[in-house]
Amino acid sequence: MLNNNLWAPWRIEYLKSLGKEKENEIEGAPWTKKCFLCEYWNNPDQDRENLVLWRTDRCLVLFNRFPYTGGHLLIAPRDHVPDLNALDEEAMLEMMLLCRDAQSVLDQANHPQGYNIGINIGRCSGAGLPDHVHLHLVPRWEGDTNFMSTIGNARMISQSIEELYDQLTEIAEQLKLPTKK
Ligand SMILES: [Zn+2]
Repeated sequence: MLNNNLWAPWRIEYLKSLGKEKENEIEGAPWTKKCFLCEYWNNPDQDRENLVLWRTDRCLVLFNRFPYTGGHLLIAPRDHVPDLNALDEEAMLEMMLLCRDAQSVLDQANHPQGYNIGINIGRCSGAGLPDHVHLHLVPRWEGDTNFMSTIGNARMISQSIEELYDQLTEIAEQLKLPTKK
């Protein structure tokens, strides 16, 4: 789904900030065996800590802790299933509605010029958590794959995920989103 050329040097800065050099050294990271989506679903009292923005009857909307751009969100069903074939239509519809609502909130928060929306199915596609399907909502800016944009984008990247979490929460309240709770 993601443009392979999307250069995300801040990811390594984030890893370094955790005192880790490699992604696989991070405990609880999505590419380890433990399913963090199920764990988050089962611990609603830890939503802020887990950067879960919204939860509805069937889905979670949460921040990707290893974002490709500022505001990279994930939308995941409650059900631990590997792809859309295993998901009922109600959950699928809810994922799309949440995607739409999350986009509205991001539009207002950091004015992306475009988005990539997609699902990686199977490990060969780059899915970090192939057993629990989830949709990526990745805000994009003109030229965010090149050097200049990295500089231009520095403001976004340096904004902490926690700060953005609070900002999105506030905007969502103003906009009365998500539509479906
Ligand atoms: Zn799961």
